[in-house]
Amino acid sequence: MDHFLYRDGILHAEDVPLTEIAAHVGTPFYCYSTATLERHFRLFQDALAGMDHLVCFAIKSLSNQAVLRLLGNLGAGMDVVSGGEYRRALAAGVPGDRVVFSGVGKTREEMGYALTHGIRQFNVESAEELRVLSEVAAGLGKTAPVTLRVNPDVDAKTHEKIATGRKEDKFGVPIASARAIYAEAARLPGIEVVGIDVHIGSQLTDLAPFEAAFTKVAELTRDLRGDGHVIRRVDLGGGLGIPYTRSNETPPLPLDYGAMIRRVFGDLDVEIEIEPGRLIAGNAGILVASVIYLKQGEGRDFLILDAAMNDLIRPAMYGAHHDIIPVIEAAAATDQRPVDIVGPVCESGDTFAKQRAMPPLGAGDLVAFRSAGAYGAVMSSEYNTRPLIPEVLVHGDQYAVIRERPSFDEIINRDRLPEWL
Ligand SMILES: *Cc1c(COP(=O)(O)O)cnc(C)c1O
Repeated sequence: MDHFLYRDGILHAEDVPLTEIAAHVGTPFYCYSTATLERHFRLFQDALAGMDHLVCFAIKSLSNQAVLRLLGNLGAGMDVVSGGEYRRALAAGVPGDRVVFSGVGKTREEMGYALTHGIRQFNVESAEELRVLSEVAAGLGKTAPVTLRVNPDVDAKTHEKIATGRKEDKFGVPIASARAIYAEAARLPGIEVVGIDVHIGSQLTDLAPFEAAFTKVAELTRDLRGDGHVIRRVDLGGGLGIPYTRSNETPPLPLDYGAMIRRVFGDLDVEIEIEPGRLIAGNAGILVASVIYLKQGEGRDFLILDAAMNDLIRPAMYGAHHDIIPVIEAAAATDQRPVDIVGPVCESGDTFAKQRAMPPLGAGDLVAFRSAGAYGAVMSSEYNTRPLIPEVLVHGDQYAVIRERPSFDEIINRDRLPEWL
């Protein structure tokens, strides 16, 4: 459920007509709903109620400071995958002891910075990383709280590019090697083992792969405790999928996900961490664009928008589907006709949808891409020297621009001419 609904024939974000925001900030822009973000965060809080837990928002899905502040104020922790994201979490006011640091390629600089400014735990992804972290922590006279990310060799049955828990994926250590690496961790200076971490992929639409992976983690918890390690927390990663089409998708609900976690870990007396990104942010955001032309081709019409693959890359990168709807509601009786919906970028891959049934639209009309809150703005670029588009946050009948569109001068002046030119 989200808070983007038609009222009096105009698509609103909460109580604000999108036509009003478009007139003020220009198109294209991203628009997020406070009420939806809060609702999705609370669904996870409720799903894990009664268990010792922390919901860490995966910043990489949507990293605007205003969104992090909003979720941080509700008590969210943050999952970061780079030194930049770590700095974003702290800048938004989230204390270091609520920040977990994931990622296969943490550098010494990133480790040192997080150790100095406070960190809940490092989710370590290899024996090599563990040794480097030990050196960095010992060198600073600090102790690094650590979980080891295990790769349970479970197929998440999701898109190839976002499956992370099979043995051929680059993430984590094989679960069979885990006990040996924990034994090494226990001997290393500057390292304190606090738990186990797993994350098997994104946009999972079935609980079975999660349950298979979590069951292996629960077994490993018992084994490691038997070996004398203190395993007081398990980080179960993110990955719960969302419906990208209104009609026929029913991914599992957070409540059922929570019940399954309770079933698997209920008697282990562990603190649960989860790292949802997409489920919190995805349906809390839309992208609003204008039609530049309706181009009539041979046997095929193209709706050319002012948004492009650089603004929302998911269709080009993953073949992802986004519902695209007119901001001014089409009359119920309107005939829909198939069009290709494309952006202006000079790549054929800059196609949002092929032969999508749409009501009649023409130059100047506004459309909204649904489910664009996660992996939307964060993956955008300035390809074709198209400025990063603004982000707007709505709260009831108020809205604020939370990232401005840069000017062309700002973009061009980032370049430097060498003195010989
Ligand atoms: C990407 C990622 C997440 C978030 O995944 P979602 O599918 O957005 O919930 C969580 N944890 C880690 C380690 C990740 O890489």
